[in-house]
Amino acid sequence: MDFDFYWLLLALPGAFLAGWLASRLDLRQLKREDRASPQAYFKGLNLLLNEQQDKAIDAFIEAVQHDPDTSDLHFALGNLFRRRGEYERAIRVHQHLLARADITRDERERAQHALAQDFMKAGLFDRAEDAFKALEGTAFTTDARLALLSLHERSRNWHPAIDVARQLEAAGTGSFSQRMAHHWCEVAQEADARGRADEAEQALARAREAAPQAARPLVIQGQRLLRQGDHAGALRAWDELMALQPQAFALIAMDYAQAAQASGEGPTALRKLEGLYAQAPSVEVLNAVNLLQPDERLRRQRLIEHLRHQPSLSAAQGLIRERLSSEVALDQSEIEGLQKALNTAAKPLQRYRCAACGFESQHYFWQCPGCQGWDTYPPRRLEDQ
Ligand SMILES: [Zn+2]
Repeated sequence: MDFDFYWLLLALPGAFLAGWLASRLDLRQLKREDRASPQAYFKGLNLLLNEQQDKAIDAFIEAVQHDPDTSDLHFALGNLFRRRGEYERAIRVHQHLLARADITRDERERAQHALAQDFMKAGLFDRAEDAFKALEGTAFTTDARLALLSLHERSRNWHPAIDVARQLEAAGTGSFSQRMAHHWCEVAQEADARGRADEAEQALARAREAAPQAARPLVIQGQRLLRQGDHAGALRAWDELMALQPQAFALIAMDYAQAAQASGEGPTALRKLEGLYAQAPSVEVLNAVNLLQPDERLRRQRLIEHLRHQPSLSAAQGLIRERLSSEVALDQSEIEGLQKALNTAAKPLQRYRCAACGFESQHYFWQCPGCQGWDTYPPRRLEDQ
């Protein structure tokens, strides 16, 4: 028993040290055929363990100078530089590796990959793009394509983004159809902004093709038709949206009601909206229903009913708006609904918040349970500040 415990005592710090080391420095990159300079190399490791990164780097540089043929040491050094945010030095190390004639193909690809990551981290996106493109056909192909995809998205180059997404999907990396639909939607909106309606229409069709269930192409399609004054067309697009993505319909519910009103489709739309509200209640759909509901009593009833289940401020706002234009005083159920909404909205604001760590609580603490600080709570509730 004592013996086991003794080993446990030894093993625990050992495991901790190994984990820490692995996080600091990829150990795989350090396995090497030991040759000339294990001394400088172990000195570097030792310094790393003592959190003396500057001196560790000096030691590794010394080791590299003694033993310039060892590419693993270069990789370790380059990694260390990148992790410390010294991107220029990381880039120099990896470029130096790439320029060498004596490294294997695997090492060359690894250096190219490391260099691409350096450029990315350094914010040199043009050079990162070139470096990632050079990895096509290597063991890093998928990784490079994923990086390229986010690079293209970041710089809003939608067509190249679509190409890369297509390659990724064809290679079986996963489904990129939703993402491609977004790319095509972006293309459509940019075309519309340039006044190229035909281009926008084509792009939108491609978006629907890419992801027939996606909400955004239908949202945009309806908005475009509405801008062109085609109310019936907009309603058709959004009817489809209502069937495919009832949750997303809330985004255009009010526009839908207005389009229906403008085209004399009010009663039909009201029926559909009421059906949707019963299935997926939201304030947006409720407002749309009430826009088309001519009966004031029914409008109020709906608002009160909604407040009872979902005491949101928007619904309370709707009720107040409704009642401002009427002469009848608020009745008991309306007051209760408003109060419920106010209580819900006020609750998060009636807390105290530690100024040191942000810990929030209903009760006042002289010592914060989060950060253990004394007198770190301002004696006022959040709503009072
Ligand atoms: Zn605290």
